[in-house]
Amino acid sequence: MIKRIAIFGSTGSIGRQALEVIEAHSDKFSAEVLTAHTNAELLIEQSLKFKPNIAVIGDDRKYKMVKDALAKTDVKVFAGEQSINEVASIDCYDLMLAAIVGYAGLQSTLNAIDAGKTIALANKETLVVAGDIVMRKAYEKKVPVIPVDSEHSAIFQCLIGEGRNKIEKIILTASGGPFRGKKPNYLMNVKRDHALQHPNWSMGAKITIDSATLMNKGLEMIEAKWLFNLDPRQIEVLIHPQSIIHSMVQYEDGSIKAQMGLPDMKLPIQYALSFPRRIKSDFPRYNFKNPATLTFEEPDTKTFRNLPLAIEAMHKGGNMPCILNAANEIAVYAFLRNRIGFMDITEVVEQAMGKVQYINHPTLEEYYYTDGEARSFAASMIQM
Ligand code: NAD
Ligand code: MG
Repeated sequence: MIKRIAIFGSTGSIGRQALEVIEAHSDKFSAEVLTAHTNAELLIEQSLKFKPNIAVIGDDRKYKMVKDALAKTDVKVFAGEQSINEVASIDCYDLMLAAIVGYAGLQSTLNAIDAGKTIALANKETLVVAGDIVMRKAYEKKVPVIPVDSEHSAIFQCLIGEGRNKIEKIILTASGGPFRGKKPNYLMNVKRDHALQHPNWSMGAKITIDSATLMNKGLEMIEAKWLFNLDPRQIEVLIHPQSIIHSMVQYEDGSIKAQMGLPDMKLPIQYALSFPRRIKSDFPRYNFKNPATLTFEEPDTKTFRNLPLAIEAMHKGGNMPCILNAANEIAVYAFLRNRIGFMDITEVVEQAMGKVQYINHPTLEEYYYTDGEARSFAASMIQM
């Protein structure tokens, strides 16, 4: 039977690679829903090729353009960010690939869970912001949340077959990003284009900057906490510049399982779509002679302070990770527009964590409110 996939964020890095996977396995998958924020041209091109049931353009000024371009097809076209969230509830697909970037992906994912859809989760910010609510809802609705993030896919794969065996700890590997080994006096002068050059992965702009600041690994620790129901003390980060080991699980007997392969997001994307089956791929294979040396080191948390800030937020819990995430989103986009420096990102996040009201057990409404507050606070800092 064909699995009907809804790709939320189909024009992004994850979305485009997911469509390549679907195209290579058209006997197993179909693209039923495609959504984009502003890139109408690519959404049109994807819709003409994949003939989804529904295409949604977030920017409603582009509705007519998309509608006209798809007039000769059966694709139903909607526009507006509200439509993206509403379409998530429509019963025309089996699995949502949540590949919108940032807080913007939260509501559609919640709606999909409410509608009982399986989630393949790329959007880590969803769990950083409101992981308790998202995972509880998924549990209540008996909805599987399958990780797409490569580290979490690795851990998920290492857990298969372990039943109730207890995890001692997980080790999240990190490439270290383009500035590994650099010190603050160097980082102060780093510009956008340099930070956008990641050594091992080609990804969207926001996550590429997060990888350069190590915030990405902090977000991933929080993501792992919720996905695998771990205590923060069970989560470790290890720098592994070759990105061959995608993460590891250590069990109570001391045995460590690792999942390995060349860095290529198509593998975890495909696994999340085909789970529990593995299906054949022609992705390049890792050859143990190249790279022949795998190295490991501690993260430099004195220089890359976003990582300890995220760890602090994870331990603090409540709405602190939501504050961290919102301030970071604002700061990263300001950096991408050359409004603030690389080191200022940390400053904005740290200040927001100290200033925005802390709530111990937030409701969903309180998470929405916190996100708004933290954004305004961060924006006001950037204006100064
Ligand atoms: P991207 O910037 O390339 O794409 C983002 C997608 O989200 C686009 O389709 C865009 O149209 C849509 N979008 C952006 N803002 C939106 C809004 N306000 N409303 C609705 N849609 C919006 O990002 P990406 O690199 O593909 O990352 C997507 C998610 O996957 C992120 O959460 C990221 O952390 C995660 N992730 C990405 C990678 C990767 O290799 N790119 C790896 C692991 C995890
Ligand atoms: Mg990752």
